[in-house]
Amino acid sequence: MYVGRFAPSPTGVLHQGSLVTALASWQDARAHGGRWLLRMEDLDAPRCVPGAAEEIVQQLRVLGLNSDAPLMTQSARTPRYKAALQQLIDRGWAYPCCCSRRDIEEALARAGVSTERHAIAVYPGTCRQGLKHGQVGRAWRLNVQRVLRDLDLPEVVHWHDRRLGPQAQNVALEVGDFVLRRADGIWAYQLAVVVDDADQGVTDVVRGEDLLDNTARQIVLQRALGLSTPSYLHLPLVLGANGEKLSKQNGAKALDLNDPQVCRREAEFFLQQAGLVMGSSS
Ligand code: GLU
Repeated sequence: MYVGRFAPSPTGVLHQGSLVTALASWQDARAHGGRWLLRMEDLDAPRCVPGAAEEIVQQLRVLGLNSDAPLMTQSARTPRYKAALQQLIDRGWAYPCCCSRRDIEEALARAGVSTERHAIAVYPGTCRQGLKHGQVGRAWRLNVQRVLRDLDLPEVVHWHDRRLGPQAQNVALEVGDFVLRRADGIWAYQLAVVVDDADQGVTDVVRGEDLLDNTARQIVLQRALGLSTPSYLHLPLVLGANGEKLSKQNGAKALDLNDPQVCRREAEFFLQQAGLVMGSSS
C-alpha cells in the first residue's frame, strides 16, 4: 500500500512553496488510494522557530490536508536514532570525527582541492583511520566506501526519479563520508530521515528538488541499515521574485489562510504549469 508523507522543518510557518510540496504529496497519496503522514523535522533546534510546528499543523488543517496517523515529531525519537547509529558502529561503518570545518578546509587546501564558497566540501577522510591519542571525536560519520565494499554494492548509486528520470552519484567521491551525528550532538537530517521514513512505512517520497542531491546518501544509509528504498519524486521549486527558491530564509510570506481555497488553487495551478499529474507513475 502507498504511504506518502510531508516532512516540514518548523523553521517558520508554511509558505506557498512548502504548500506545493504538501499538496503534491497529499494528492499523490490520494490518487494512489494510499495514506499520507505528517512528520515534524525539528531536530535542528537552533533553527526552529517557537510555535511554528503548532502553526504548521493548524495551517494544514485549515487547508484540508489531514494526516492519516498521529503526528511524528523527530525530537521525540532520540532512542531510534541512537540505535541506528549503534547498528552502524557495530558493523564498523561509522567512526568518530574530531575535525572542525576549518580543519576540513585546511586539509583540502593542503591536498590542493579548492573549496568554492557554499559548495559541499568533500570530507577528506582525516579521521577515518581512527583518532590519534588525545583527540576527542564529537561528530560521527559514515564510512561510505566501506559500507559499499562490505555489501558488495557498486561505487556509483543509481536510482530513478519519477519526474527527472535516471540519477547517479558517486557518494564517496562527490560527498565523502557524511555526518550522522553532528559535533553539537544534533542528529543529522540524513540519518533521521532514513530511520523515520522506514519506521513510518513510507513507500513514496514527494519533496522539493533542492533535496535531490541528498537522495543517493539516503540510499547508501538505507542499504547500511537494511531498510528498503522508497520511490522518489522531486518537485520543481517555487521561485521568488528574485529568482531564488522561495524560502523562509529569504522572507517568503506565510500563507494567507483567510481564503484557503485560493492558496490551494494557486498551488494546484503551479503543479499543472509544471506538467505534473500527481498519481501518474513513471
Ligand atoms: N524537512 C525537510 C525540509 O523541510 C524535508 C525533508 C524531506 O522531505 O526529506 O526541507
